[in-house]
Amino acid sequence: MKALCWFGPGDVRVVEVPKPTLQAGGDVILRVTRAAVCGSDLHLLHGKIPKLAPGTVLGHEFVGVVEEVGLAVSGLQVGQRCAAAMFVACGRCLQCWSGQHPRCSEYAMFGMGDLMGGLAGGQAEYVRVPLADMTLCPIPDAMSDDAALFTGDILATAYTACLQSGIRPGDLVAVVGAGPVGLLTVSCAQLFGAARVFAVDPISERREIARQLGAVPIDPAQGDPAASLRQLTGGSRADVVIEAVGNRETLELAWRLGATGATVALVGILVDEPWPQSAGQAWMRNLTIRTVIGQPYRHRQTLFRLIESGVLQPQSIISQSVPLSQAAEAYAAMDARRTLKAVLRPD
Ligand SMILES: [Zn+2]
Ligand SMILES: [Zn+2]
Repeated sequence: MKALCWFGPGDVRVVEVPKPTLQAGGDVILRVTRAAVCGSDLHLLHGKIPKLAPGTVLGHEFVGVVEEVGLAVSGLQVGQRCAAAMFVACGRCLQCWSGQHPRCSEYAMFGMGDLMGGLAGGQAEYVRVPLADMTLCPIPDAMSDDAALFTGDILATAYTACLQSGIRPGDLVAVVGAGPVGLLTVSCAQLFGAARVFAVDPISERREIARQLGAVPIDPAQGDPAASLRQLTGGSRADVVIEAVGNRETLELAWRLGATGATVALVGILVDEPWPQSAGQAWMRNLTIRTVIGQPYRHRQTLFRLIESGVLQPQSIISQSVPLSQAAEAYAAMDARRTLKAVLRPD
């Protein structure tokens, strides 16, 4: 079968690899019908994630059709359309029972190499899905694959960020970065009652989409975004800031956008960035710092309802849909920020 594999920094290619087979009773082989390229895949592309072996199949955001089921799978049938969560969880351990699926003893992420469990990813024709009764979620009949695709990763992450940052009705919310996660965060923040959502991004097309989704766009080229925010709000800063980029500059900006007593939620992938302020300064400003890891298992049913009702339209951020065989070009386009969110479909 064809799959997008990583061979070294900057080098991803679609090659022939063996089709996966059932290895445990709980496995499903899924025929992938849509797979997205995620911002975190770009970290992999650049070799920033350790322990990634050449030949690793990437991709942790995908939906598909059940092709084969293991003997222990009870809730899924061949032919069923399902969305996958980006990581595997057992659903039976104490962590899963308490809703902390990312801390499950059987946690493994798709397409992230040996650092995160060594599971092959879904940017392929087929993918092996362990613990499939838990990992896969049937997609409602009337929902398109594109609409369901982000429930396993970026939409769940955006929703989790808004929930965990404690947005309350009337809050001023600033989202740093109007990439795929930032834009979905703009949509989700309004569900929690934000009075106004501000979206900071240097790319005008992205600011325009943020505006269409209900945000007030802020262009960092027009001056310090913290000053722009104060100007737009008559002197206020944000009650909640959600950082959805993950670099030193945006982290520093997120700190400055927050009001005294603000919550600063960190969603972008941070590697070794230092804290922008000392603990004492954060204390003086009474900041709540919240790191966020997306919780697809807790929220995907809620997200399905919100998509079914039309309240959320996550597929609106898809900017490019290409056949799997052109996946390397899609990576290059996303990496160069020429496209917002690329989706791969079968050849
Ligand atoms: Zn991702
Ligand atoms: Zn578990």
